[in-house]
Amino acid sequence: MFIFDEKFVSKKEGHYYSCPWIEHGLVFFEYKLAMCCNCGHSNSAQPLVRNNFTGQKIEWERIFKVKEMYRRFHKKGKIHKGCISCPYLQEAKWDESKYIDNLYISHWTQCNSKCIYCYATQKPDEFEVHQMYHVFPFIKDMFEKGILRPGGQIAFGGGEPTLLDEFEDIVTYLLDNFFWGIRVHSSGIKYSPALARAIEEIRGYVVVSVDSGSPEVFEKVKRVPAYDKVRETIRKYALKTNFIGRYLVGAKYIIIPGINDTIEEIEKWLKANYDAGIYTTVIDIEESWYLTNRGKVPKYIIDLIKYVEKRSKQLNTNFELYERVQNLLNDVNMKK
Ligand code: SF4
Ligand code: SF4
Repeated sequence: MFIFDEKFVSKKEGHYYSCPWIEHGLVFFEYKLAMCCNCGHSNSAQPLVRNNFTGQKIEWERIFKVKEMYRRFHKKGKIHKGCISCPYLQEAKWDESKYIDNLYISHWTQCNSKCIYCYATQKPDEFEVHQMYHVFPFIKDMFEKGILRPGGQIAFGGGEPTLLDEFEDIVTYLLDNFFWGIRVHSSGIKYSPALARAIEEIRGYVVVSVDSGSPEVFEKVKRVPAYDKVRETIRKYALKTNFIGRYLVGAKYIIIPGINDTIEEIEKWLKANYDAGIYTTVIDIEESWYLTNRGKVPKYIIDLIKYVEKRSKQLNTNFELYERVQNLLNDVNMKK
């Protein structure tokens, strides 16, 4: 579980290798508590806080003891194997106080989309179960005890967050208690007034993976007839933004070879975003295809990514890349 490597033994006084999630993070999954979501950071096991968790009482001291154990090992250069190649792992002088300011709520229990790339939709029996437990009581408990503090990020993902029956209450509670950094990954099929408020108050960020510029391609990817609904939702979120918060609504495009990989479709997506006042565009490549084809990604895919980058500059919009796409471009640039 922990692997020793000399290069992780810090030579600087008071420093050691860690990350904001080991220090002050917690993730609620449907069956476990984890240190981080570990989504794409590493190919190894996830750093766990507690397995078999389905909403039982949490002794916060025990959570901090687990974090302390990680610190002890990391200070000796023994790094959790899930963290070895993670870009968040840094050598620093960390604040070892006992508090949480990074939360991720990732239930994976329900969604209103059926994306062809989603592993959860391939196991509908496991995915479409009822919400396993409520996170809101834990959030309140942490906040009332002074354990949960603003300053980090409060992220929702894994399934469709806006379908959780506690979503509006959690976001409203966080806003009422002066939290910011609320990040939501949403299908965009359901509009959330609480999320709209978070965006309007420049304390929330939403990214919706539209993956298409037309209803036809949308339905191939999402397998639900909801293109117009999604477009309407993100337009309404974008209407909440002002000049300072104009990057807080993002439209994502996961390139899926053979399905949505044409300049024409991408151009329609870019134009629809621009017309809706969406100033952040996010590009990714379908993960399972990428893992199978890394190292031999065809040139036309690289050209598509570069096309979006070029058009984003022309449209003066914010261009974001997911980590694997950035790695891919780095590989291409190194070979030049
Ligand atoms: S995998 Fe990365 S983000 Fe997660 S705990 Fe390890 S270093 Fe932190
Ligand atoms: S929106 Fe997310 S959780 Fe829902 S099917 Fe698509 S990838 Fe899966």
